[in-house]
Amino acid sequence: MDTLPPLSALPSGGRLTVDLSALVGNWRTIRSRVGAAEAAAVVKGDAYGIGLEPAARALHAAGCRTFFVALPRGGVRLRAVLPDAVIYVLNGFFDGAGPVYTAARLRPVLGSRAEVDAWLAETGGSGEPAAIHVDTGMNRLGLTRDEAVAVAADAGLLARLRPALVMSHLACADAPGHPLTAEQIRRFTEVRALFPGVPGSLSNSAGVDLGPEVHHDLVRPGIALYGARWAADRPPLEPVATLEGRLIQVNEVPAGAAVGYGAAFRAERPSRIGIVSVGYADGYLRRAGASDAGPGASAAIGGMRVPLAGRVSMDMLAVDLTDAPAELCRRGGWVELFGRTVPVDEVAGHAGTIGWELLTGIGDRYERRYVGG
Ligand SMILES: *Cc1c(COP(=O)(O)O)cnc(C)c1O
Repeated sequence: MDTLPPLSALPSGGRLTVDLSALVGNWRTIRSRVGAAEAAAVVKGDAYGIGLEPAARALHAAGCRTFFVALPRGGVRLRAVLPDAVIYVLNGFFDGAGPVYTAARLRPVLGSRAEVDAWLAETGGSGEPAAIHVDTGMNRLGLTRDEAVAVAADAGLLARLRPALVMSHLACADAPGHPLTAEQIRRFTEVRALFPGVPGSLSNSAGVDLGPEVHHDLVRPGIALYGARWAADRPPLEPVATLEGRLIQVNEVPAGAAVGYGAAFRAERPSRIGIVSVGYADGYLRRAGASDAGPGASAAIGGMRVPLAGRVSMDMLAVDLTDAPAELCRRGGWVELFGRTVPVDEVAGHAGTIGWELLTGIGDRYERRYVGG
């Protein structure tokens, strides 16, 4: 058995190519849009599916110093590669994990009074400085305004807490002109004034477009860094992730032949059908498939778009290669599932979801290649 290669060296059905120079370029673009505010990076969800460690290393080398993960385990992974970065844990403090936060120098984003108290009880006020998350209308995480007022008025508590950031999160910044955004901006400005001298942070990717009154001292872009859309009416930055699937079979089928489960799709003409070794178990969503009732997502081969044919299976999908250059349509070739030719948001749209979900769902069955950076 000891002669078997590591799993990562075995053939994979797909490959993910991550353009680290595009990632870094996107971070620089955001930095150039926020004036004097600091551009941090949100790297939760394994850096939106592209791989936490390589993404964080590239961003750090470009000058990014503050990172946001969701959970302590992301923080511990990140600390192993970035000894001097500031690392915030967005989902806050988890009881019993005090020693881990201390050892890995993780800063919790404290989102309730109970969490503030638990953090201080476990770390005795000697841990890292923390961020205080105040709710301004999303009703997900965050102290209420009254709780924030009480914390701000308690000098003894503040001395132990040493807040390094006061933050809130926008619920609707991707919907231009949504009234809740103006309300959240107003509430945050008020709440932030309770903590003089503490840097403020409100902006996600979409907030970057909203100008200096939303930037405060630090912006927290996620999706924009990874080259997907943050709002329907804004162009994305440079694509970062390209997902390709391997052609494992190419079949000629007659007009009228059914392709895939449920015979939901029938070829209208004699067709060349390519079977790609990527399916919904790889995070390529089943709802992106095609049927006689309507087209599915596009894929691409050699930079030319080709449509999906039939339903997406667990580990495979089919593409109609009839109009593609025959020399590319051979067993062992590669089909782009999203990337430069087919934007990730377009595939997500066909699957009834958003780029965030498609990217973070792509899993780890792919060969991964990191280029640039
Ligand atoms: C995910 C997240 C972000 C980044 O959001 P994007 O829309 O991906 O830019 C910023 N702040 C908080 C609190 C988040 O949870």
